[in-house]
Amino acid sequence: MKILVADDSKTNLALITDAINKLGHEVIPAHSGRQALEIYQENRPDLIILDVMMEDIDGFECAKQIRTIDREDWIPIIFLSGSVDDESIAKGIDAGGDDYLTKPFSEITLAAKIKAMQRISDMRLKLFEMTQNLYLMSSTDSLTGVYNRLQFDRSIKEILAATDRNHKKAALLFIDLDNFKAINDTFGHHIGDLLLIEVAKRLKLCVRSKDFISRLGGDEFAIILSDIEDTKEAEQIAEKIINTLSVDYNIEGHHIKNGSSIGVAFYPHASTTRENLVLNADVAMYHAKASGRNNFQVFSETLNDRYRKKISLEHALKFALERKEIFLTYQPIFNLKTNKICGVEALASWDHPTFGLVSPNIFIPIAEESGLINLLGEWILLTACKDASEWPLESVEDFRFCINISSRQLNQESFYQNVMNILRNTNLKPNQIEFELTETAVMSFSSQPFKDTIQRLHNLGIRISIDDFGTGYSSLVRLKHLPINTLKIEKSFIQDTIASKNGAIIVNCLIALGKNLGLNVIAEGIETIEQLKFLIDNECPYGQGFILSKPLDSSSVKKYLEEKINTKVKI
Ligand code: C2E
Ligand code: MG
Ligand code: MG
Repeated sequence: MKILVADDSKTNLALITDAINKLGHEVIPAHSGRQALEIYQENRPDLIILDVMMEDIDGFECAKQIRTIDREDWIPIIFLSGSVDDESIAKGIDAGGDDYLTKPFSEITLAAKIKAMQRISDMRLKLFEMTQNLYLMSSTDSLTGVYNRLQFDRSIKEILAATDRNHKKAALLFIDLDNFKAINDTFGHHIGDLLLIEVAKRLKLCVRSKDFISRLGGDEFAIILSDIEDTKEAEQIAEKIINTLSVDYNIEGHHIKNGSSIGVAFYPHASTTRENLVLNADVAMYHAKASGRNNFQVFSETLNDRYRKKISLEHALKFALERKEIFLTYQPIFNLKTNKICGVEALASWDHPTFGLVSPNIFIPIAEESGLINLLGEWILLTACKDASEWPLESVEDFRFCINISSRQLNQESFYQNVMNILRNTNLKPNQIEFELTETAVMSFSSQPFKDTIQRLHNLGIRISIDDFGTGYSSLVRLKHLPINTLKIEKSFIQDTIASKNGAIIVNCLIALGKNLGLNVIAEGIETIEQLKFLIDNECPYGQGFILSKPLDSSSVKKYLEEKINTKVKI
């Protein structure tokens, strides 16, 4: 043990030092109360022995001051005194002492008292370690080792207070992984956990050691950058994180791709309170997700306005069905060899009294996020099938009636049964129906129940089409395992065919790919005669686009089919 002994009598000090040394302990001598206090602060001893009577600061006063310096760290104190009466015992204990040793002392008593104090000291150390561990446990995320939400709440307060004091800036980054749910569903939770650990490791590499990293839960991380000079600095870090996290992962032999979306908000600029900062980083993150993921967005008032608009759209969408604001149109699909109509695609539109026409590109994602998609999707399916039951479908050979289905609908257990009921009630045959699933949806939702539902629908005779093909990243291996009938080439590729040489090559390859896989290929969004000619020259079997026909209402489709109108475009 390291024992601090204070006595202003040199002889006494030498005597006790000698005795303690004999017991195998180290002595730090102090010749006065003041010196004892100085040594205590610089050189934390394990035990303190204080002479009660010292000239400058006496033992009791010395103990009192030691206890005020460090209330938490209780180092045992023994007083050394010539006489011990009841009153001074009480005074000594009140001052913070633990025991008394009377002068002259026997070495046996000294050894026993030191041993007793050592026990207290050991217990104190254990308690200290336990408290440290408890604190660590309550502040860190046990999976990744970074801080947890509790510590985030504690630290953000402290960091912002320091930012105020130093007149600096701070930035809050909310990071959300883009495909985590799909990865968990596909590879299992064990791999999901290992991915999170790797993400935390990579995050540490992107920031300075003083920056605060935490996992708020699930696949959501938060980083607080303190002491930043200007906003560019934080933007550079956000960029670095996007790049670092999107490098492919190799986890137990699985090759995993995963991007991230980041929302950035600055303090005190644009967000003046802690609550605001957190809310604004969240708004920015929402926009990062909405702008195609794998990017970061910095919060601004413009973003906030867009966010508010989204919230009001979300609210209005809840009433859209009962207020009959949603309606369907049907865009014809043509056989490009024969010029004949061979199907239609049902497209949902929303006409709101104040927002006007809202594109499905906007309201479908909102419906998906808010869970409304199941109700909306069911209404769309039923209404479309009811409309189609009025059409003379038999007049067109191999007619395909295409309906867009959201991946969330397929995740619903009741979906298959709903489809069966609707088909029964509308007298449509399964082989007249084709469900369109976007490539991104198929690739990110490849859980077993999802695949099973697709398989069951396919077994029933319903055709499955991959919409917007080319925009997602699909692995051909995975596509091969799904029962697919059709590829729809995304319209931006079609529009590129004439604009660029590469565009033409890509579309050619996509047509060849589809055909080689034995699939139907439909080119979407054909707008010009040149595009149409290109597709025909390159033997794309089917096409759809404004130049061939705009979406029509149900009665126009009926007329179209009755009169067997072919495309008006002469090629
Ligand atoms: P999509 O399934 O790829 O539908 C084709 C979109 O391209 C439609 O846009 C259509 O109006 C548009 N389009 C057709 N021809 C042309 C053309 O020549 N040029 C251009 N620029 N566009 C053309 P719309 O109606 O705005 O739908 C957008 C997307 O919203 C759809 O893309 C689909 O992913 C989704 N969507 C629409 N209706 C539904 C629905 O009932 N359910 C679900 N889940 N999604 C739907
Ligand atoms: Mg579609
Ligand atoms: Mg499409």
